Amino acid sequence: MTNKYIYFVANWKMFGDIKSLNSVNKVIKFSKLYNKFKFKLIYCPPYTLLSSFAKKIQNSYIYLGAQNCHHIPDDGPYTGSISSRMLKNIGVSYVMIGHSENRSEGDTDIMINKKIKSCIKNNLKIIFCIGETLSQKKRGLTHKTLKNQILKGLKGIRKINNVFFAYEPIWSIGTGIIPKSSKLEKDIKYLKLFINKQFKNSNIKILYGGSVNSNNIKSLKNINNIDGFLVGGASQNTKKFIDIVKKTFN
Ligand code: PEP
Repeated sequence: MTNKYIYFVANWKMFGDIKSLNSVNKVIKFSKLYNKFKFKLIYCPPYTLLSSFAKKIQNSYIYLGAQNCHHIPDDGPYTGSISSRMLKNIGVSYVMIGHSENRSEGDTDIMINKKIKSCIKNNLKIIFCIGETLSQKKRGLTHKTLKNQILKGLKGIRKINNVFFAYEPIWSIGTGIIPKSSKLEKDIKYLKLFINKQFKNSNIKILYGGSVNSNNIKSLKNINNIDGFLVGGASQNTKKFIDIVKKTFN
């Protein structure tokens, strides 16, 4: 891998309770011991753990992320919702938007666009998830789908300095199946060229997500132009998550 920072996002999904917080101690220790390696670790626990996490990771090399937010940036009568302002207020720095599990629960491109704008307004970094279904892949629609998601999600936004892209083929999330290295490399190159052209920004960060584990990281880390990994299932096990980071640099 090159000499740039590699990002590792731990998406805990709807898992974890107060006890699971203890497992993060090991990661904090690891991040201090291994900080000669250029990595950034971003933990995205469920909303219920964000405040406790924020306290725990003070003075560590770990950043805090949320898994989603409401599309209204401030406060309002939206029962059961959390705004990006509230997230910022408790020490969150990244927010995942457009995860396929949220898209399948009703997050439309229009909603995603509003959510991204709300995060920008509150000076939060965005992990913008995009990805095609198996059927779209089989019909040769991968690039068209990704282009559409990007253009709709970022409609009306000119500056994308705070937007990180997470390319997550939906058929790869939680299935144990990852794309062929050559195909993934081509798709990431395509995305970088497309985004660079659209937004006149040559410093685009693209992470890969989908069944990343401590075995397949050995091939994934060699993909050219990859800026990091979004890890779901394997991030809920501290040892496995640390292994993924270590193997990326060894
Ligand atoms: C994810 O949650 O975005 C994800 C990639 O999950 P997994 O690593 O379990 O496939």
